[in-house]
Amino acid sequence: MERKGLILETNCIFCKIANGEIPSATIYEDEEFRAILDLGPASKGHALILPKKHAANLFELPDETAGKAMILAKRLAKTLKEGLHADGLNVVQNNGEAAGQTVYHFHMHLIPRYADDTVNVTWTPGTLTESDKAEVTELF
Ligand code: AMP
Ligand code: ZN
Repeated sequence: MERKGLILETNCIFCKIANGEIPSATIYEDEEFRAILDLGPASKGHALILPKKHAANLFELPDETAGKAMILAKRLAKTLKEGLHADGLNVVQNNGEAAGQTVYHFHMHLIPRYADDTVNVTWTPGTLTESDKAEVTELF
């Protein structure tokens, strides 16, 4: 499937939403991105940034798109936080089933946070061991 020079994955729902083939609650659109409200929001204002060109995850995302996505996240996060009088905001981005990804088209979650909300974006802190530290730092 090709539209306006963009290659779309035939069975990818976010390709269809990003490119306007399936309607969505759009809060922002430009040539390369669409931002929509999540259908199963964690909080009021939970939004998703979708690139129009398919990439399954961060590992497949072109550098230029990654850079623009973060700049867009910053802009939209500011409007959401100020406009909804949120107390904070999480940017969440899942890659792979083990990381909680359920839709395999790169997307960034913008989740406004309210002082009294029950949103759970937490983990139990472990301990950094000497062997893990050595193994990981040697990768770079
Ligand atoms: P993830 O688990 O990071 O892959 O996130 C997928 C997100 O997409 C979830 O928060 C879903 O609620 C949301 N979602 C799935 N289908 C739709 C849709 N058709 N429109 C809006 N949000 C969707
Ligand atoms: Zn896609």
